[in-house]
Amino acid sequence: MKFAVTSKGDTKSNQLKEFIIDSLTNLKMIHNEAEPDLVISVGGDGTFLEAFHTYNHRLEETAFIGVHTGHLGFYADWVPEEVENLIAEITKNTFRVVEYPLLDIKIYPKNGPEIERFLALNECSVKTPEGSVVLDLNIKGEHFERFRGDGLCISTPSGSTAYNKALGGGIIHPSLESIQITEMASINNRVFRTIGSPLILPKHHVCELKPIYDDRSFLLTIDHITKNYTNVKAIECRVAEEKIRFARFRSFPFWKRVHDSFVSDKR
Ligand code: NAP
Ligand code: MN
Repeated sequence: MKFAVTSKGDTKSNQLKEFIIDSLTNLKMIHNEAEPDLVISVGGDGTFLEAFHTYNHRLEETAFIGVHTGHLGFYADWVPEEVENLIAEITKNTFRVVEYPLLDIKIYPKNGPEIERFLALNECSVKTPEGSVVLDLNIKGEHFERFRGDGLCISTPSGSTAYNKALGGGIIHPSLESIQITEMASINNRVFRTIGSPLILPKHHVCELKPIYDDRSFLLTIDHITKNYTNVKAIECRVAEEKIRFARFRSFPFWKRVHDSFVSDKR
């Protein structure tokens, strides 16, 4: 089996990364950063997001695992003390794979046919540095509302505990292939109206965001990445065909991670 290890870059994560590489190499595993079967991310959820974006061109061949060197994460759910155990499990060469849904984002420019496509593990958000975001939201090809406000966030189930949660969205179990749309400070009065509630769309229900003003630029975030756009005709979001594969060596159910992260780490 070929493996790669990524690190947050701090001393603790770097040391743990070296330890993992040395241990697995000694056990005849092949260290291969370019084409790994297994990617081990050491750091936090942010580090895991970076690892996902580094290897998202070969999701079918790669399984991911996250070790945290700070607090418990949603993707980084192994503690450093468990790493020797983890190494022993990896060398047995058999693990269960659990798949989580991803978000497919397509950006259609105003001029020209060049469509850009991204995959997000957590979410995509649309904001603007200039005044309010004003856009038409279409769902499954039908006009749903004209949104005015700070922006919209479209998240995956596993991203529902991140930005989405801070925006008042619900926490969605990753076995539900869906995306969630949450509002950021929508303007609501007698003139302007939006639904106000988070919306959860199933697979194949495409949502389309169509900016109203030609001249406004957008800040588009895709997980930890921020991009600046002008001349956007439409942004299309849906549940992706691709999925992320996690290597599972022991069970740590989603609701337990939610409990331990947000309610209490005491049993
Ligand atoms: P960051 O500013 O360090 O991330 C914010 C926090 O979100 C960190 O504590 C991070 O964990 C945590 N996080 C990331 N993914 C999560 C998930 N799926 N469930 C629960 N918590 C999660 O930036 P970053 O580390 O590069 O992460 C980028 C993410 O930050 C974005 O995808 C977005 O979801 C989130 N974000 C949140 C807010 C907000 O809550 N108001 C605002 C902007 C962005 P670690 O410390 O382990 O990295
Ligand atoms: Mn972070």
